[in-house]
Amino acid sequence: MARIAPTGRQSGDLKLYPVAPDVYLYRGFFSNSGVLVLPGGVVVVDTQITPMAGERLRKAIAAVTDKPITHVINTHYHGDHAGGNLAFPDAEIIATAETERYIHERDEERLDYARTFGLQFQDVPAVAPPTRTFTGKLSLDVGGEVLELFQAGRVETPDACVVWWPSRKVLLPGDGVATVSYPYLGVPFLDEGLQDDGQWIEFLRTMKGLGAEYVLAGHGQGLQGKERIEARLDLLIALFTDLFAAVKEELAKNTPLAELVLAVDAKLARYARHKDLEQNTVSQRFAIYRAYNSARPDRRGKGWWHDFRPSVIKRASAEEAKPILEVVTDQTLSATVRGLAKRHGPLAHTVLEGWLAAHPDHAAAHALLADVLFDSAAGISPVVDATEYIAAAAREAKAALALDATCKLALLNLGCIDIWSAMVLAQSMAPGIARITAALEAGDLTTKQRRKAAFFLGKAHQFELRDEECDRWLRQAMPAWLRFAYPLVRHKLRSIP
Ligand SMILES: [Zn+2]
Repeated sequence: MARIAPTGRQSGDLKLYPVAPDVYLYRGFFSNSGVLVLPGGVVVVDTQITPMAGERLRKAIAAVTDKPITHVINTHYHGDHAGGNLAFPDAEIIATAETERYIHERDEERLDYARTFGLQFQDVPAVAPPTRTFTGKLSLDVGGEVLELFQAGRVETPDACVVWWPSRKVLLPGDGVATVSYPYLGVPFLDEGLQDDGQWIEFLRTMKGLGAEYVLAGHGQGLQGKERIEARLDLLIALFTDLFAAVKEELAKNTPLAELVLAVDAKLARYARHKDLEQNTVSQRFAIYRAYNSARPDRRGKGWWHDFRPSVIKRASAEEAKPILEVVTDQTLSATVRGLAKRHGPLAHTVLEGWLAAHPDHAAAHALLADVLFDSAAGISPVVDATEYIAAAAREAKAALALDATCKLALLNLGCIDIWSAMVLAQSMAPGIARITAALEAGDLTTKQRRKAAFFLGKAHQFELRDEECDRWLRQAMPAWLRFAYPLVRHKLRSIP
């Protein structure tokens, strides 16, 4: 009874972990891939988010087996599972007929999804569609060992399938089973994901009936041990059941949305506090939005929580900002905002918005706002909330650069956002490194800004596997008097956020 791949509960470290004989779990930064070594060849379940990430996965597989990769299976159409298909040109790519349809129909939505979270695509890599599709069930014989692929209902997406290796009791359920954190619930603006139709709960019961010894899911750590797996599936069944019951009870009382969220969150506090339902990426609040939306027939087909979720960006009142705006000048704006940001971020934000309302073409003010917004994202959990700040910071940095292409504070922040995006989307670090380097070369950055530049340059080199440069920059991200202690904190600075 154990968790598999102990490094990082949710985010992965780009390593391939042996789970059982012939079974491996690859922990990409955002999503996982399963690797099954069968007598007739290697089967890869899900291919990461881009061809670049798929290529890294292929290299990691080549280091443990010289058998050819004969089959790729996509558990569903989402980009973080099918985005690396192009890296496996010699394999047969298998998915459900619905997955093939969505890969074509929702290609554009993949980009909207990323943009919702403040992520910047450098280029948009194509997704190679499946070369073989099925509906319902498919037995795949790979040199005498049989994998069962089947659909078991609508879960995070309607097209999902699972992969089951019966002789080894290994289950790869895609995103239908969350192993450590709060489950992903579907794209925020699409009519998919958790719905009040009982299908996801039925899916979890079907998974329980398989009696798996290993679960390698689409995200997070793997699970090992029949009892542990059953307990996890029971927890998810109870969570979804209680969530809908609590939301419907409030709807019957006509509770307005804002109060409904608080009431249901309180009622489900035992889940919110549960150590294995960490709300690091999504949160219980989003589950409540989903359930609310789904339980109201008048909201059907109107998108999901995305269109009624209130903004999480905190602002101060206009009255609070007014006396500051009355005295601040072109010359004092930067120092004033920096001082405010230290003790009251929302006020710094509101002052800048007020200033920009009167001076919309002031590049430095847009860049300052980008800086305040980006730094505010650091302490915010779940990540989906933090990304709202990052998306806003990217908009402001771009506005600044449109007015002044050499604005160093905008270059710095957009460079940091580029690197964060390249980590999540598995793209090249070069554009982010170039922007931050240009900002550093322009000189005259504050100590805090130089350390921020060094930290993100360190991360960029870490993700391109250049250890020495990574250490050199991360050391500079520390205060000068503390640098001798770098070996002691190296592990922490290099840990995956
Ligand atoms: Zn996923």
